Amino acid sequence: MQPTVRPRGALVDTFGRVATDLRVSVTDRCNLRCSYCMPAEGLDWLPKPQLLTFEELTRLVRIAVGLGVTTVRLTGGEPLLRRGLPELVAQIAALDPRPRIAMTTNGLGLDRLAQPLADAGLDRVNVSLDTIDREAFARLTRRDRLDDVITGLQAAAHAGLTPVKVNAVAMRGFNDESVADLLAWCLERGYELRFIEQMPLDAQHQWDRASMVTQAEVLERLAERFTLTPTGPTVRGSAPAETWLVDGGPARVGVIASVSKPFCGTCDRMRLTADGQLRNCLFARSESDLRGPLRSGASDAELGAQMQRLMLAKKAGHGIDEPSFLQPQRPMSAIGG
Ligand code: SAM
Repeated sequence: MQPTVRPRGALVDTFGRVATDLRVSVTDRCNLRCSYCMPAEGLDWLPKPQLLTFEELTRLVRIAVGLGVTTVRLTGGEPLLRRGLPELVAQIAALDPRPRIAMTTNGLGLDRLAQPLADAGLDRVNVSLDTIDREAFARLTRRDRLDDVITGLQAAAHAGLTPVKVNAVAMRGFNDESVADLLAWCLERGYELRFIEQMPLDAQHQWDRASMVTQAEVLERLAERFTLTPTGPTVRGSAPAETWLVDGGPARVGVIASVSKPFCGTCDRMRLTADGQLRNCLFARSESDLRGPLRSGASDAELGAQMQRLMLAKKAGHGIDEPSFLQPQRPMSAIGG
């Protein structure tokens, strides 16, 4: 029988940062092929037996919640591809204390799943949509599914998964010249838009610092059509996005400048991959295997202590600008964004 000793303390690193936000990838599979994330074809999926079951995932989330995690974000791959996802949300929502539950999705399938997910306890969603131009969407994602994403967004708002946020990666030659169109479209529908700088996390290793679209460039383009007023550091807290009021507010737009203005000093995130590997940074080159101990009888206290040890080893920064920087072995789709 397993000892019932619970882990104690919090997830703290040597720089005093505390992890309160756990990103949980539920699958590495995806039904889009965004060029900044995946190759057109030829990426192997994780073998099914390696994927954590909902019971295993919920147990690890419960342990993390016991160590101070207050927000759980389900991601992937495409989380909606994981069969029975509302059941996982219900299991996490039944934890005490109950964490806030969010999800990052490409929106495909949300038309069917938004309401069951909301009923199960999902609090809100971020839907990834880089452009509202059909041709550019199809080129960027390599799938002609713009209408389905838009239907998914509408369903999310209808199910009360608000504020509905839209994530967009600005990509040169695809959507860099139309960022203001996307903002106007989101404002009209009440969606909060956040641009994300392209990071070196693509499976093909084609990221190029010189051609990526920076926060400064996005803001310059938006300012051609809108008046942007910074909301300042108090509003931002530990959020990855820096935000601006649009035309005096209350609507806002955000930019996550992970490359040009890293915010590692306030990072409060840890990541659990679909195959049970814990990561203390998106760009970490090593992981802590929780699946092995979990399946060979480790106690909650042992798993919690392992989480704490990994957090303690978190580096000061992601190091993208250092000459020694090496992209992590896993692409973004297998880590969980
Ligand atoms: N499939 C879901 C989706 O599309 O939102 C969840 C997983 S996806 C990896 C999570 C987020 O990471 C998306 O908003 C996506 O645009 C972003 N992303 C993927 N690769 C990226 C990269 N190389 N740089 C910046 N953001 C990236």
